[in-house]
Amino acid sequence: DAAFFERLSLHGIRLNEAQARAVRHDTGPMLTLAGAGSGKTSVLVCRTAYLLTVRKADPRSLLLMTFSTKAAAEMRERIARLPGVGKEAAGSVEARTFHSFFLYMLRRQGIREDVFSETRRQHILLKQMMRELGLQDTYQPETLLAVLSSYKMNLIAVSDMPESTDAERETKAVLLRYEAWKQENGKIDFDDILLLAHGLLQERPQLLRSLQTRFRYVMVDEFQDTNFLQYELVKMLVAPHRNLMVVGDDDQTIYSFNGARSEFILKFEETYPGAKVVTLDINYRSTSAIVGLGNAIIQHNKARRAKTLQATKQSEDVPRYMTPKSTDDEAAKTLAFIQEEVAEGRRQYGDFAVLYRSASNNRAIMEQLLLQSVPFIEYGDGQLLYEHWIIKPVVDHLRLALYRRDFNAMEGVLPTLYISRDRGMTFIREQDAIRAKKGPLIHLLSWPELKDYQKDKIKERLLLIKSLAAMKPADAIVHIRRKFYDGHMETVERQNATQHKEMLREMLDELEASASRFDTLEAFLAFISDVMEKSEEHDNKKREEQGDRVALMTIHRSKGLEFPVVLLIGASEGSLPHSSSLDADRIKDTFAKLKSGGQKANEAIEEERRLAYVAVTRAKEQLIISSPAYYRGKKAAVSRFLLSAFGVTAPPKRESDGQRGGYGATGRDGWGAPPKRESDGQRGGYGATGRDGWGEERKRGAGGYASREETGPGIRRTDGVAPSMSWQRAGA
Ligand code: ATP
Ligand code: MG
Repeated sequence: DAAFFERLSLHGIRLNEAQARAVRHDTGPMLTLAGAGSGKTSVLVCRTAYLLTVRKADPRSLLLMTFSTKAAAEMRERIARLPGVGKEAAGSVEARTFHSFFLYMLRRQGIREDVFSETRRQHILLKQMMRELGLQDTYQPETLLAVLSSYKMNLIAVSDMPESTDAERETKAVLLRYEAWKQENGKIDFDDILLLAHGLLQERPQLLRSLQTRFRYVMVDEFQDTNFLQYELVKMLVAPHRNLMVVGDDDQTIYSFNGARSEFILKFEETYPGAKVVTLDINYRSTSAIVGLGNAIIQHNKARRAKTLQATKQSEDVPRYMTPKSTDDEAAKTLAFIQEEVAEGRRQYGDFAVLYRSASNNRAIMEQLLLQSVPFIEYGDGQLLYEHWIIKPVVDHLRLALYRRDFNAMEGVLPTLYISRDRGMTFIREQDAIRAKKGPLIHLLSWPELKDYQKDKIKERLLLIKSLAAMKPADAIVHIRRKFYDGHMETVERQNATQHKEMLREMLDELEASASRFDTLEAFLAFISDVMEKSEEHDNKKREEQGDRVALMTIHRSKGLEFPVVLLIGASEGSLPHSSSLDADRIKDTFAKLKSGGQKANEAIEEERRLAYVAVTRAKEQLIISSPAYYRGKKAAVSRFLLSAFGVTAPPKRESDGQRGGYGATGRDGWGAPPKRESDGQRGGYGATGRDGWGEERKRGAGGYASREETGPGIRRTDGVAPSMSWQRAGA
């Protein structure tokens, strides 16, 4: 035993007393509830090594469940690298995601269905089914899939879905069709894997028993994000021996919309009476200033177990803060920062991760990276905004305004006229071959199959397209929205699909923000073509090259990971917290409600705050946060999470107010600069003070947003340390 810990410390891992206690844990249930970067995942890895080398456990009797494939792969690597374990034993340990573990089980049980996981294909299929049911574009495929998932994860069959409103009936009809299609075509999706596994384990007690006998030790990472079905599966696996060790952090529950319930971790001791509980409160990942900022953000949540992390690493570099003018300005500054760090030899591209709240927030940064040929990998669908099915038809209208013979664009416009792409294009091409016209779309008017009202619609559209040619790109988009998307929005509104509407609006706003940078349609379209071309090259290259590149991902994807430098972009109201969380109370839409787990406004805000916490705690050495002043063309306040972390819940007073975390000095525009504090590294306070305090300028009257912060005035710090901010302007 002692030799084991000795070897570990030679390996650079000197476990603290609490960690060692968790690692030594033998049998029975055990819970480690601890903050970010405190070594929870490390404890699982070390316990695995401990069980193998000290307790001489059979490697095949260990099962480690993780959240993502990336995390599982990392875990396997880390286990193999630990002293005394050896490649072979490490290879026999099951370290997998829930999905991969249960898929493996299904395969061994002779279930051969293909896993149908490609999102784009699922979307196409759902759209096709909606068309067949006369529900063109009524619902967002993303929403439908989320609804489907939330039912399945709660063990409710699609056939049991409610049918009390039109929306519910329609959704159910589409989803039933989707499920039938999968069955007919021998496909299963990710959720089906867990659902089938659950069914199978219930039907085949022998199978369950064999798993229970084989896996004597079960460990689950990121337990705060398990949903009901996963929770049930784990319970079944460990039922006879209860040798279950889970680690997690209730402050990092960020999948509530997916059915994750932090209550599973908070009530662990109820489900598993007699569970041993170990808390870890030392952060080994990040510098003191980063840990301090994380603490200062998350302490404003009410629904949590209070805990404060202490830092071990002194800060050399305090978190920096930027207030760029717009998201495009933000992208340019972010990239300039990365380029400079790399050029001066301080960092490699692979040291950086750019994190953002929603997938559609990466438009500007992705464009910059592509245009400047900086190597990067985007952990998402990699799709450009301009290729998205909502946006592409709009761009196609713009293209046709300038280039009337653009057949690709024509093809994109046809569905918006409710004309079949294939048949419509065949007709247009035939006509075009016999009698050339400058704008072949006009040929449609002579299509005998069309009804008069359809022809009127085409005429109207031709006029619209013509009128776009003379407009500035942003105006043209506004015009298209008004002329035909607004009508569509109304339909959506009637059907009460708030979430869908929100998505549409968000993407169109983003497109408008992008267009507003250009004076002419020509320039905008040329830019889009350029970016798309670069994106194609990038896609082709991506497959081959590995290694040194900037990582781009949503905060959700970054869970459990760490990076030397984190750039959190879009930390403005409306983006983080996301606008949808601001009016969660007003969500009337059944699906949106389901998706958000029926959250109330404050619950939704708390989840957003956890996201902010997860984001900042990914950084090991350097953290740069930026809050664009304009977000999608609208003025946006600095994220309330940052303000409350600074202790600003009302416009700061002049006098120093240590107790309330107030400000010492007052800046030239009424906004105080933070007081300089003594170094407080050990406690995880803000250690070093930046060169110039708050480098950014604040606008008078910005205190308005403080009142929206529901935590009320003042600041509570469990460790009694008044927070002080010592940010410096990035690139200043
Ligand atoms: P998260 O909540 O983000 O998942 P975590 O609690 O799982 O974080 P780990 O990823 O296990 O934390 O650890 C964070 C970092 O701290 C890792 O780089 C790990 O190697 C390091 N670390 C953990 N424990 C120790 C220790 N006792 N000594 C030195 N480094 C440690
Ligand atoms: Mg972890």
